[in-house]
Amino acid sequence: MKCNICRKHKAVINDYRFIDSCGLQGKIVTCEWCRDLNDVAVSEIIRDELDPKTFYSAKNKEIQDKISKIADWIINESNSSADEVEHLLYALYESKMSGLSGNINDDYNDVLDIMYNREK
Ligand SMILES: [Zn+2]
Repeated sequence: MKCNICRKHKAVINDYRFIDSCGLQGKIVTCEWCRDLNDVAVSEIIRDELDPKTFYSAKNKEIQDKISKIADWIINESNSSADEVEHLLYALYESKMSGLSGNINDDYNDVLDIMYNREK
């Protein structure tokens, strides 16, 4: 059976979606690509007959941009780059001790906050 959202990939997961504009009113089956997308992305896929994989490459690009900005910050702006690198190593090996959220958006926003406050 094909995914009820993209109609391109094999459906592998039972899901619930309530998106009136797309005629989704409850139980559906989705592919592994559509399962984690939000309702806005799902609406776009249905309306424009997009492949859900395109959303992941856009998302990957966004994450790459954020990671490279955080790296720039550590190298060029941070008061103590060594501490920041230590932090990241903790995140790799002892994630609970690192104090980092593990969520790129949270950590990226923290970096933006720090940069912004310094410029004031
Ligand atoms: Zn799908």
